[in-house]
Amino acid sequence: MSRVWNFSAGPAALPEEVLRQAAEEMLDWHGAGMGVMEMSHRGKEFVSIAEAAEADLRELMAVPDNYKVLFMQGGAIGENAIIPLNLMGSKGRADYVLTGSWSVKSRKEALRYGDVHVAATSEASGYTTVPPMESWQLSPDPAYLFTCTNETIGGLEYPFEVDLARIGRAEVPVVADVSSHILSRPVDVSKYGLLFGGAQKNIGPAGLTIVVVRDDLLGQAAPHCPSAFDYKTVAEAGSMYNTPPTYAIYIAGLVFQWLKRQGGVAGIERRNIAKAELLYGFLDGCEFYETRVDASCRSRMNVTFFLRDESLNDAFLAAAKEAGLAQLKGHKSVGGMRASIYNAMPLEGVQALVDFMRDFAARKG
Ligand SMILES: *Cc1c(COP(=O)(O)O)cnc(C)c1O
Repeated sequence: MSRVWNFSAGPAALPEEVLRQAAEEMLDWHGAGMGVMEMSHRGKEFVSIAEAAEADLRELMAVPDNYKVLFMQGGAIGENAIIPLNLMGSKGRADYVLTGSWSVKSRKEALRYGDVHVAATSEASGYTTVPPMESWQLSPDPAYLFTCTNETIGGLEYPFEVDLARIGRAEVPVVADVSSHILSRPVDVSKYGLLFGGAQKNIGPAGLTIVVVRDDLLGQAAPHCPSAFDYKTVAEAGSMYNTPPTYAIYIAGLVFQWLKRQGGVAGIERRNIAKAELLYGFLDGCEFYETRVDASCRSRMNVTFFLRDESLNDAFLAAAKEAGLAQLKGHKSVGGMRASIYNAMPLEGVQALVDFMRDFAARKG
């Protein structure tokens, strides 16, 4: 068996320790005589797995008691509809901040459910910056304000915590798509009304969607909102209104335990900073490559870069593959390259990428 350094944007690499433990427990979980995939979601074994996963996630993110943690399905794209269905309420209008592909897509979906006002956009810069909060123009009484705090495709991350109190609009609930940087850095949950993300970037297998939502936002779903997507219904059923993605929750739980062994979010953040500094530091010092995102808004998780001579792209990807470095091709809408270096990517993997890129530049430059 040989594993590659996997830079996929998602589904993405998982900690090897977690995969080994899952393999060991595949046929017989803790003497149950069956694997987790084969268990009833209502049996005491699985209920204990789900409860531990939720408790560990709450601890890692320091989720206050007045927030629910929901394990849902439908992915972040599903949430683009589920959020307005739940939160638009009688106000019928929400504000969106546009910083790249994902927030643009979220806005487009929301238009089907109510009025949408663009509070700020960095379209003019080609989505290479995040508009400063002081420039946001909120509408008078929006149901919520939507942000995507790490734009996975462009490689752009908010360099500040969204805090509407700073612009005198603390009453507006902030919604954040944190799919691709959840648990990579500390977040003050109390500043948000709702945080959500698909699990397949930084947490576990595809199929699980995490929603952290403040209690006062429950119970306002539109009459036609599907019951399985009504946050209040899901919360009251302890995320078991319908069968949850049990195996994905189990793996997520193992990843949460792994993360606690790494020193929690503060510990992993230190490693993530070191990884990002290593890669961006190399990119800044090598003429052969270029980056386009404003240096202040570079994502620690999704590093986008370009070869100055784009005719070498295919040769770069082929040589990288040969060197055991996988899935570096940028998203088709942006082009170039993207190295996703989520929590599970060790510094060693980033060092291997930098060594390869230096060598490739020396041979072709
Ligand atoms: C991956 C991603 C999505 C899409 O998630 P799905 O699980 O495919 O619905 C949405 N938003 C962001 C920020 C993402 O990284």
